Amino acid sequence: MSKITMQDLVSLCKNRGFIYADSEIYGGLSNSWDYGPLGVELKNNIKKAWWRRFIQQEPNNVGLDSAIIMNPRVWEASGHLSGFSDPLMDCRNCKSRHRADKLIEEWIVKQQDNGSTEEYPSAEAMSDEESQAFIREHNITCPNCGKCDFTPIRKFNLMFKTFIGVTEDAKGTVYLRPETCAGIFTNFKNVLRSTRGKLPLGIGQIGKAFRNEITPGNFIFRTREFEQMELEFFCNPSEGMDWFKKYRTACMEFAKYLGLSDKNLRFRDHSPEELVFYSAGTTDIEYKYPFGWSELWGIAYRTDYDLSRHSEFSGEDMTYTDPFTQEQYIPHVVEPSVGVDRMLLAILCDAYRVEKIGDGDERVVMGFKKSLAPIKCAVLPLSKKLEDIASNVYGELSKNWRVEYDTTGSIGKRYRRQDEIGTPYCITIDFDTENDKSVTIRDRDTMQQVRVKIDDLDAWLHEHIYD
Ligand code: ATP
Repeated sequence: MSKITMQDLVSLCKNRGFIYADSEIYGGLSNSWDYGPLGVELKNNIKKAWWRRFIQQEPNNVGLDSAIIMNPRVWEASGHLSGFSDPLMDCRNCKSRHRADKLIEEWIVKQQDNGSTEEYPSAEAMSDEESQAFIREHNITCPNCGKCDFTPIRKFNLMFKTFIGVTEDAKGTVYLRPETCAGIFTNFKNVLRSTRGKLPLGIGQIGKAFRNEITPGNFIFRTREFEQMELEFFCNPSEGMDWFKKYRTACMEFAKYLGLSDKNLRFRDHSPEELVFYSAGTTDIEYKYPFGWSELWGIAYRTDYDLSRHSEFSGEDMTYTDPFTQEQYIPHVVEPSVGVDRMLLAILCDAYRVEKIGDGDERVVMGFKKSLAPIKCAVLPLSKKLEDIASNVYGELSKNWRVEYDTTGSIGKRYRRQDEIGTPYCITIDFDTENDKSVTIRDRDTMQQVRVKIDDLDAWLHEHIYD
């Protein structure tokens, strides 16, 4: 087995149709990516699995799909207009641009990797002056040119601004949402009123978010346009900590259920200094990407901050009255928030393996969890003469499954092609098929083969693809 590098991954994704550079025929747009035929299938399967787990299978939870462009007052209330900014520094020597907090975090990780046991303060908790002093004191250098000569920190708001209407004036200024959850808070009372009307209640949504990131990069890890899967779980303040712990565990279990290996996942609890003032607990689930451990999923216990702020700014009272006890309170919120693209990147990295298969030969396998695989099976007739029966099998299977049909090249080459895109099953149609009404199914991982009746194929796939 060999480890994947980002270069291998980007090239596999491009060549096999998972992910392409955006607007490539115009020279591309840096850090913008398009999902190809396989990428979109994989992405949809991840979103479906999240929806099934966190909306469908949770009796207290429901879904939502809110607008990307919202009333700009929403962003005043949420604090994004005044506070959603990153500490930006330019290297005076090579003019490259950096986030001070990320420079510090990366430097600390390097020290720890080199065996340092010293306790360092959290970069997120530092003021701009403290960050600048820390960078000078530890001689943290520019990753691009190696010099330690930075401009003072400037704050840079990450929201994309645009205008509604024909004139570009301040009255028409609106923003592309930097996270999906705002629409959940503004609809909290609507959902409560129109559904069950009592807490606890979770509202989830999947959708695009936009951030004018200073340092996008590492392929689809940090981009300016991305998708989030967010759940806001509203509950009684006395139960907030229990729900926080429950979702912390549930998110980790789900990451493993999607096929991510234990050794590549860890919790990182935010220290008290690092927590924003309203949070009673925040944990990141980190994944070990080829470029190091980084945040995959954030789970935050946000107390009553969001609903209180929206109450204050909108004038709409968000107080909840318990129908049984008449207790009144502003609900507390637990928020598990994960990027679809970051999850997809972790799944691609975890699935990739190169195997020796005798005689110095090797194969690349994308060992996706079977239910996530973009293509579930490939129909491969051994001869052109078998195409009638093969296309009938393909037609029947494609009513329920995403199936490929491939007649070109030797059967070995066709197997390799499917291994490389992670197809769990190859279905070969041979000269016996007409007589025994059966096909051979070859398993991607074990390469073992079984004979199955055509009439039983659909049920067989159901049994073997879903757990
Ligand atoms: P980071 O520290 O990496 O910038 P964050 O703490 O700002 O992330 P959150 O605001 O908590 O991120 O967003 C929730 C989730 O959305 C993240 O855990 C991540 O999976 C995803 N996400 C956030 N920003 C981006 C981005 N620019 N590109 C892709 N995914 C993102």
